[in-house]
Amino acid sequence: AAAQRPRYLDGLNPEQRAAVETLDGPVLVLAGAGTGKTRALTTRIAHIMALGQARAYEILAVTFTNKAAREMRERVEMLVGDGAQAMQWLGTFHAISAKILRRHAELVGLKPNFTILDTDDQIRLLKQVLQAENIDDKRWPARALAMRIDGWKNRGLLPAQVPAGEAESFANGKGGALYALYQERLKILNAVDFGDLLLETLRLFRENPDVLADYQKRFKYILVDEYQDTNVAQYLWLRLISQGRRNVCCVGDDDQSVYGWRGAEVENILRFEQDFPGAKIVRLERNYRSTGHILAAASHLIAHNEGRLGKTLFTDGEEGEKPTLTGVWDSQEEARVIGEDIEQLQRKGHSLEEIAILVRASFQMREFEERFVEIGLPYRIIGGPRFYERAEIRDALAYLRCVGQPSDDLAFERIINTPKRGLGDATVQLLHEYGRRERIPLMQAARFLVETEELKPKPRGALKSLVADFERWRNLIDSKPQHELAEMVLDESGYTQMWRDDKTPEAAGRLENLKELVRAMEEFPDLAAFLEHVSLVMETEESKEQARVSVMTLHAAKGLEFETVYLPGWEEGLFPHQRSLDEQGRAGLEEERRLAYVGVTRAKRRARIFFASNRRIRGLWQPTVPSRFVDNLPSDHVEVVEAPSASQYGGYAVSRFANLDVYGSDYSTPGWKRAKAGATTPRAEPMRESRPRAKQPMTIEGEVVARSSTNARYGAG
Ligand code: ATP
Ligand code: MG
Repeated sequence: AAAQRPRYLDGLNPEQRAAVETLDGPVLVLAGAGTGKTRALTTRIAHIMALGQARAYEILAVTFTNKAAREMRERVEMLVGDGAQAMQWLGTFHAISAKILRRHAELVGLKPNFTILDTDDQIRLLKQVLQAENIDDKRWPARALAMRIDGWKNRGLLPAQVPAGEAESFANGKGGALYALYQERLKILNAVDFGDLLLETLRLFRENPDVLADYQKRFKYILVDEYQDTNVAQYLWLRLISQGRRNVCCVGDDDQSVYGWRGAEVENILRFEQDFPGAKIVRLERNYRSTGHILAAASHLIAHNEGRLGKTLFTDGEEGEKPTLTGVWDSQEEARVIGEDIEQLQRKGHSLEEIAILVRASFQMREFEERFVEIGLPYRIIGGPRFYERAEIRDALAYLRCVGQPSDDLAFERIINTPKRGLGDATVQLLHEYGRRERIPLMQAARFLVETEELKPKPRGALKSLVADFERWRNLIDSKPQHELAEMVLDESGYTQMWRDDKTPEAAGRLENLKELVRAMEEFPDLAAFLEHVSLVMETEESKEQARVSVMTLHAAKGLEFETVYLPGWEEGLFPHQRSLDEQGRAGLEEERRLAYVGVTRAKRRARIFFASNRRIRGLWQPTVPSRFVDNLPSDHVEVVEAPSASQYGGYAVSRFANLDVYGSDYSTPGWKRAKAGATTPRAEPMRESRPRAKQPMTIEGEVVARSSTNARYGAG
């Protein structure tokens, strides 16, 4: 019937409508930043539901971050109302995999309540594996092994599938064997790491065709955002699950592929056409997000990359303000100048919600946090080290994990002697030996050991009472609300008292955090659901009441947009990051440049780029030089703004350092500003990749540096 066109299709351009309305068969939307890919994807979901093609729970929608999943749900809700709540299969690859795995855990040798380990736990477990094999972990660090194993998992390789040459690459040929041992340990612990969520689901599908067929049938429509960042394991996962009905729609932008270091492969975009012959390819060219100058600057920048599929971008919007470029003396001044700038915008009536600071490395955040606390500017950190990673929270979570999941050795080991109860290394050692011999978890080993003479009377008594406590708490899981149980566990174990007795300045804040944890738990149906949330949603949730500036890494900013975006730290060694250059050379550089492109294209109206001439790296001040990406900006679309200190430091000025591209950006953006008469011939200048590095090559390990204790939100300090 020639029904009236649904309202939600209004305002979409013809290409977007094609992406929304081509429901049968594979669709690939390949388009630049801000062209409305995510909007098309969201509308497509609404369309499917509105036409009754599928129910909410028959749609699989994959996003890249939990935040993106939340936003997508909200957007769908705006279009179709409450129906969006029923979308139980909207989430990240990891979250969806975890859900599938829990339903069929036994088929891959797990119990449904398996634990999801974070990086910390993973490293600790690998250390144990190395120790048990008598491998010197100074020479062969657990962290390096973790990276290797993650790499294999990202490529969908089980231990037996690791290519011989690579398996030999760690600890004199033991790499592959250690991977196998690690997997064995995980199974004993009834645990998986992040990579396993995908790998084990893949295995589940491959070994159980009936289970796979079930999901192939269930998911009538499959949608994937940020497709350019899928790794091989995710790709295989997706291909398996979508081969049934083949109604799969992926949207992405090769210029925004920024997870190569984590195994993402842009080639997946090219493979799509092979694996899904007859796929409809949609290209979107109109950018709806950014003003002219911002788009021109971003397009010019990314045109310096060689490995591109290439595409056109234009805007019909106004030219707007030129992105600004400011050189500052050091990172402190950078934070101060940006803080003042934000306050000025605030006074002019701009909402803090529409302002973001995007950093290359998370250690850069601390300076901003400190400054913002000082001037009372509300902010939030998105992604990065956060609430659930604080020591006291991790301890508390370890207690709760032991209650919910008695075979969780890592959790048990973490708290066995916290607070001190006389169960030192010797006891733990004994438990380990016993556990390994009997192939049982530590908690169970403890239960046996306290019945023997192997332990001295004192530790024996302490261990016995600890084991009994856990037994008692566990028996309350079904009868006591989880937050009350948590409070009880923390009190009765002596953990809370430990901080009450602590005289350090941080103790009060830690106690507040523990209270906050208990409060957070109230919102969940039960303990298991809460622990699942913690392991997956490592983003801090705080009230939306107060408007705040967002601070996050460039990686976390993918897909988001803000009126005003600050881009600090455009210095060689930091951005592009020295590690990317050292480890991946040219490919690393291009990935860094894509990250810069992601950064600039987050801005709707204002982009402000900064570089400092001095930066403190691991406590040492080092002179720096501006990023080559500064040189990649087009001079006619960027405004140089001197920092207040420029005169103060004797003529120190951005113009002395910055060396903007003199070419216009017409070559990189054919659609954009074509009208400009007598434009320069479309030619990128030769690349200056040989730009000198900062005097001492910097390795910025500071990314994992502990966070400032002056974090206002959690009241620490
Ligand atoms: P990214 O590559 O950064 O993820 P994207 O291609 O997913 O970007 P969206 O986030 O979907 O782009 O859209 C960018 C902005 O443009 C959003 O504010 C969106 O609401 C708006 N937009 C998209 N399509 C249209 C349209 N047809 N008309 C008006 N505004 C639109
Ligand atoms: Mg998007």
